[in-house]
Amino acid sequence: MKILFLASEVDPFAKTGGLADVAAALPKALSALGHDVRIIMPLYKQVNREKFGLKPTTHTVTVSCGSQERAGRVWEAMVPKSRVTIYFIECAALFERGSLYQEQGKDYPDNLERFSFFSQAALRALPLLGWQPEVVHCHDWQASLACAQLAWGALGEEPFFSSMATVLTVHNLAYQGLFPREQWTLTQLPDAAFSIDRAEFYGQINCLKAGLVSARLITTVSPTYMREIQTQEFGCGLDGVLATRKPDLVGIVNGIDPEEWNPQTDPYIAAHYSAQTPAGKSLCKLALQKSQRLPEQQHLLIGMIQRLAEQKGIDIFVQGLDALMALPLQIVILGTGDPVYHRQLEQMATRFPKQLAVNLTFDNALAHQIEAGADAFLMPSRFEPCGLNQMYSMRFGAVPIVKRVGGLADTVTDTTPKTTKAASATGFVFQEHAASALVEAVKRAVSAYQDHALWASLMQTGMRQDFSWGRSARAYVQVYERAQAASARRLAHR
Ligand code: ADP
Repeated sequence: MKILFLASEVDPFAKTGGLADVAAALPKALSALGHDVRIIMPLYKQVNREKFGLKPTTHTVTVSCGSQERAGRVWEAMVPKSRVTIYFIECAALFERGSLYQEQGKDYPDNLERFSFFSQAALRALPLLGWQPEVVHCHDWQASLACAQLAWGALGEEPFFSSMATVLTVHNLAYQGLFPREQWTLTQLPDAAFSIDRAEFYGQINCLKAGLVSARLITTVSPTYMREIQTQEFGCGLDGVLATRKPDLVGIVNGIDPEEWNPQTDPYIAAHYSAQTPAGKSLCKLALQKSQRLPEQQHLLIGMIQRLAEQKGIDIFVQGLDALMALPLQIVILGTGDPVYHRQLEQMATRFPKQLAVNLTFDNALAHQIEAGADAFLMPSRFEPCGLNQMYSMRFGAVPIVKRVGGLADTVTDTTPKTTKAASATGFVFQEHAASALVEAVKRAVSAYQDHALWASLMQTGMRQDFSWGRSARAYVQVYERAQAASARRLAHR
């Protein structure tokens, strides 16, 4: 099958979060199953053209955005260690910026133009490249307009595009791409599509909603999140829209890239290890304590790597920190985000220099070193569409402590007498979104850590889990086949 991925970030070219990981690893897994998968993303300033061997093609796409015409050259490269081709849409005025979506906490005001241009230019590049995908798989609000442009816009009428089936994956429903109605012409959609049952959302343009209404099928990144987003609590105002698409919603847990996250071969860590030969993990713990200037104690060392945002539960973590610091444990945090939490964490690190190390930066090497050096890994998310770090942690033998929500609920098995007996426990799960519940779960982990046999079993069971993309990729292929069949039926009825 020919499958096009449209994503606003792809690892290792440009990344702000889990989307980039998925947008690289899933195409690789699909390609390994024999499919012809290609990716298109914007050519940001952040993409290192030399390092990744980007080459300009001879093709330039011209797209209307409101009253302006914009042109973009198409560049080409291969996703490292794969047979997947990736194209980049160049447009210096839109993508040569300090960051991908925002600076100093403020979204770029022309984001609608940037990503409407990207969606249209990516689709318009296809005939030039002489490649006609059967399925266009769009990711998040930034690529959602492509679904709408194919379903409701002029593109869908052109024979080259009319047979393409669209699939939209929602990685995080909280980011919807909301813009003032005055910018509508930038979408290149007909005026009739600015309506409550299409792209309008309380008087504004909602890119994700446009995608949710127009995509042939919709997926989210875990079955639990799929159910949660149909409720008012997690629906971010779109639960009603999602309810109307219930038969077309599918939840598929992300896999992880087993090469990128492998303690047996990881180039960033102090010593290699595996479930069978776990000794190297203690060396990694010592190396982490050293690099973080923490005393080399035998206490439970907890890692955290996350955006410092309330979505990730940083608020309840900070509320519980005094109680946590009274326990025999150390915590290493790596994250960036809300300046309020930067300040609070820095203050706490000064108060507890022997127990708390705070790294307010984005550092991939350190992320690997934390996974390898930590005994446990904390994710107190308010909501979590899938989450990747709990899976990386299990693979690195860092036992996850998580809230029972979204993908965390689907991937971590709580330690109870029953699961301990069945050797199926992989972590510690708490129910209530509150500092007290978080602290109680950490206390359970601290106490389990004293029981060497139990801790070894938790680590081993986690390290043996199959989080490979192969399993998820096969589930996506079924979605593509369903989407294609539905599109073919629609064409037949035309
Ligand atoms: P998100 O909601 O941010 O996408 P995920 O758990 O799905 O959360 O993915 C986060 C990804 O970003 C993981 O690969 C994680 O290791 C990485 N990450 C997050 N913050 C940092 C950071 N400060 N430094 C390095 N990597 C980070």
